[in-house]
Amino acid sequence: MKETPQELKIHNNMKKGMISVTGFLGDDERHYHEIIADDKKNLEKIGLSADKIADRLEYFSRKAFPVYDGTTIIDEIYQVEYRSYRGRIMCPFGHGGGYRKGEITLVNLQNNARLCWTPLNEHMIRTHCFFEGVGSNHRLDPEIIKKALF
Ligand SMILES: [Zn+2]
Repeated sequence: MKETPQELKIHNNMKKGMISVTGFLGDDERHYHEIIADDKKNLEKIGLSADKIADRLEYFSRKAFPVYDGTTIIDEIYQVEYRSYRGRIMCPFGHGGGYRKGEITLVNLQNNARLCWTPLNEHMIRTHCFFEGVGSNHRLDPEIIKKALF
């Protein structure tokens, strides 16, 4: 596939040690375009949109953010913990400003499905339909999202 200079830059940004120590691609050898295209198909299969998922992730991170001490239970069945870190992280697609560093862990106490994500994931899902490569630290599998949150 022929890449534009812009796409090449994005692809490089996603590699280990560029914007994030662990990168966004994991051991996934697909181009990020393919990762996005495949996840769009996955979303169609399970009947969810990137917006709906981002809304749901934001709903939990907003509620959990003000809880400083350990975990909180939201809507009776979601155990959520927000760990906040100093600083901001850039979007690998080149959006300025940066996104708050932090990590949200959620366990659905009804079925034990577990998710772990960052504020940057919320942005990348909503704006780029990018769920990260398979094997990446914060890869969010749409089917697991469905099981955990819907
Ligand atoms: Zn972006």
